[in-house]
Amino acid sequence: MSVVLHWFRRDLRLSDNLALHAACRSGAAVIPVFIFDRRIYTAPRAGAPRLAFLLAALHALDAALRQYGSRLLVRSGDPVAVLAALVAETGAAAVYLNEDYTPYARRRDAALAARLNVPVHASADALLLPPGSVLTGAGEPYTVYTPFRNNWNKQPKAPVSSLALRAEHFHPLTEIAGEPLPALPDLGFAPTIAVPPASEAAAAALLDAFIAGDIHTYDDKRNLLPAQPYHTPRPAGTSYLSPYLRLGLLSPRQAYQAAREAYRHTHSVAWRESIETWVSELTWRDFYMHILAHFPHVLERDFKDTYLALAWRDDPDWLHAWQEGRTGYPVVDAPMRQLNAIGWLPNRARMIVASFLTKDLLIHWRHGDRYFMQHLIDGDPAANNGGWQWAAGTGTDAQPYFRIFNPVSQSEKFASPAYLRHWLPELRGVPDKDIHAPWRLPKPPVDYPPPIVDHAIAREQTLAAFKQAVGK
Ligand SMILES: Cc1cc2nc3c(=O)[nH]c(=O)nc-3n(C[C@H](O)[C@H](O)[C@H](O)COP(=O)(O)OP(=O)(O)OC[C@H]3O[C@@H](n4cnc5c(N)ncnc54)[C@H](O)[C@@H]3O)c2cc1C
Repeated sequence: MSVVLHWFRRDLRLSDNLALHAACRSGAAVIPVFIFDRRIYTAPRAGAPRLAFLLAALHALDAALRQYGSRLLVRSGDPVAVLAALVAETGAAAVYLNEDYTPYARRRDAALAARLNVPVHASADALLLPPGSVLTGAGEPYTVYTPFRNNWNKQPKAPVSSLALRAEHFHPLTEIAGEPLPALPDLGFAPTIAVPPASEAAAAALLDAFIAGDIHTYDDKRNLLPAQPYHTPRPAGTSYLSPYLRLGLLSPRQAYQAAREAYRHTHSVAWRESIETWVSELTWRDFYMHILAHFPHVLERDFKDTYLALAWRDDPDWLHAWQEGRTGYPVVDAPMRQLNAIGWLPNRARMIVASFLTKDLLIHWRHGDRYFMQHLIDGDPAANNGGWQWAAGTGTDAQPYFRIFNPVSQSEKFASPAYLRHWLPELRGVPDKDIHAPWRLPKPPVDYPPPIVDHAIAREQTLAAFKQAVGK
């Protein structure tokens, strides 16, 4: 029997998996492989919540493969060495994989291609349009979102793969030994928060529910921090698909195609606008991945050199207060406690807490980026870095340094009192009208801290620091 390997990485699904389907179409029996790479799960940006979600997704993938008479072959070690040994052991004629665009993944995949004496077939599966396909007239990558999107909108997107999988596509793996899937402690992590169901079926159900309902009112609801911010199957307002897109339990083509069908099925102008807004979020996802692929330095330093001289503040106490949701600003503390409790935040909450860390506390975005990566189940190097550099004013389409979110007006505009009380039980007795700034009460709640900075003063100090950095 001729054999090929499919190496699963951030594409943990059987449907619309371009490299897997190419492997199946080759006519050889596919051995599905996952490799635990210490360099990834011991990296500073690794986090137990996302690993827990990954482990659950791997169990689901293994169960799905068993329905085809196969299973997930698990190995651990340096992926290049593991795959070279596996090719020798099985006589595999090729390795199939989907491209990944982080600097580490690109180095690793180049080393793999150089080491193996069989072909490595890479597919561009993770995005709607791969890096290099959306360029300016001069052939350069875009560094601003809107012209990127205009070009992106004009280009055709690949359809969802129609291959129907069959048991004959897969190797039964009867004589090839693998390792059991580890538990978190085996990877050196303590047990962590409960994670949502992690499977292709769960992702498909979330997508279906969103497309049947909230996508049509996305424009109105996406920025609100509602009373019930998180419940199964999903919070109100947005799709909650980010963890699923992150690990590839859903493909971006499946999401895009479903949105396009919803668009065709409605004639309401407002609904169509909401659908377009949601599709533009998928474009942001592509955009930040392109930025990372073309400008890998962003993971370590500012996208722009403009503020390299900025005197960021080094204050571990303030950093801890922010991390633990003890800044005294409810609209900052509620999301941070939500992040610590469930590993996910709505986009508006991410923007508010990122602005507060970088602009009110003047603490380097790198600390926030790392903390988010350690705690988010959807933590993605490209989107997270893009979001943080946007908030700090150092990134591509960044929020200019002089736009500083006011935590009280953001709270009044977007946060429902029920949301704040849900995550901050200390504020249960505070009336709605006072909950956005409880320190203004004649008798503030004794067990909730006063603000660690005065926003008006912090704002002036930050403006001065930015001006000094650019020599104004
Ligand atoms: C400081 C900061 C950090 C962030 N970190 C991450 C991260 O680590 N991982 C992550 O997936 N997103 C991140 N985002 C983007 C965004 O907040 C989340 O994608 C979104 O909140 C996920 O919720 P949802 O799936 O309901 O999104 P929806 O609103 O339903 O959007 C659909 C999908 O589009 C993509 N998307 C939406 N907004 C963005 C965006 N601004 N940039 C890139 N992709 C986007 C996501 O894949 C999302 O699932 C970050 C944003 C900020 C401001």
